[in-house]
Amino acid sequence: MIRPTLYKKFFFLLIFFGSFNLLYCQKKFTIVLDAGHGGSDIGANRYYSDIGTVMEKNVTLGIVLKLGRMLEKNKDYKVIYTRKIDEYPSLTYRTDLANRSKADLFISVHVNSSPSKSATAQGTETFVQGPNQNKANLDVAKAENDVIFLDERDKENFASYNPSSPESLIALKIQQSKYLQASLIIGGLVEENFVKKDKRLSRGVKQENLHVLRMNAMPSILIETGFVNNYEDAHYISTEEGQQSIAESIYNAITSYKKLVDRNVKEPEPEKPAEQPLKNDFRILLMSTPTRYTENDPALKGLKYILPIKENGNYKYYYGTTNYASVRDNNLKTAKDSGFRNAISISFVPNQSLASGYYTIEVYAGKDKLDSKSHIMKTLPNMERNKENGVFYYTYGKYKTLEEAVNTQKELENKNIINTVIEKRIK
Ligand SMILES: [Zn+2]
Repeated sequence: MIRPTLYKKFFFLLIFFGSFNLLYCQKKFTIVLDAGHGGSDIGANRYYSDIGTVMEKNVTLGIVLKLGRMLEKNKDYKVIYTRKIDEYPSLTYRTDLANRSKADLFISVHVNSSPSKSATAQGTETFVQGPNQNKANLDVAKAENDVIFLDERDKENFASYNPSSPESLIALKIQQSKYLQASLIIGGLVEENFVKKDKRLSRGVKQENLHVLRMNAMPSILIETGFVNNYEDAHYISTEEGQQSIAESIYNAITSYKKLVDRNVKEPEPEKPAEQPLKNDFRILLMSTPTRYTENDPALKGLKYILPIKENGNYKYYYGTTNYASVRDNNLKTAKDSGFRNAISISFVPNQSLASGYYTIEVYAGKDKLDSKSHIMKTLPNMERNKENGVFYYTYGKYKTLEEAVNTQKELENKNIINTVIEKRIK
């Protein structure tokens, strides 16, 4: 028999642990599922005589509902949908909902489309929010950022987002170090499942500057589940079976990801501290060639955040910038997966002044001279002009560090002078 006092204590403990347990259980792993587009924004679409019109907004909803049903069966998960019907929630609403619900993961599902009519592009790719590095030109962002479908609040929010303002940069850098690595992990798991389970073609995990991911305060990914203008893909993503397979792959990825998160939370491993940033910046050298490519040239194989640097008449194309070893390794893998088999990682000392020579900005290269009334000439009347092998090169400014040159490039972008190239001139 238990003495009354001891019994009381015991009873108290029982209630204490009972309620603790209840509290503990209430914190479920919260996932926001975002079916891209909706309502009047039908997204990417294509008509086929045998399968009819394949519309992105229907495919994304089909996949998200199937995925949600699977997740809801598991009581560890709490699922929040940005939409469950054919309607258009604004991008701000989608982000706000995710942030307000303190979600652990944000998954946006989309359908790809390539500009060419007869699509050779095929397969899946997953995007994570990339940091603002270079050429963060909102105008050239792809269809997912289509301004037509931004509502008034979206426009206000994104108008106040100035990619070159120090505040935005700091906010993005914090966001980068905090969520980029986790986003890359979940993105990698999704693509791995597509390849291994569904035998799909993967175009890898890529960094991109997308409105719907930018302001999220949690690991976030945007999955392009296939190309609407590729017949095989279009057929696959529009069938129940295809959508179910895609949903299952994403489900598997979420389960594996949660296991990793749980392991980190429950058994912090002292021998593996959080990754420390490296002293140097790392960029992936994709290729070196005399040809000057602009941003969306197919030769760059769809990679964004490319920094071309001209040296001795050759253009060196660098992908991504990071001072984290794990992100560097992922960037190198992305480059190789995209077809740059000889890509290598190059280290840059931040803010290093050139011992001799300088950086300049190649603003224009072409067979014709620039018209004195052109926007470029009016904005930058003091450019240096050289002619080599019948091509006119216009360059602007002299800078001791690469960072100064990159900043100038951004200022030029704000003045609507795009596709400039940094040139390194060693004397
Ligand atoms: Zn989309």
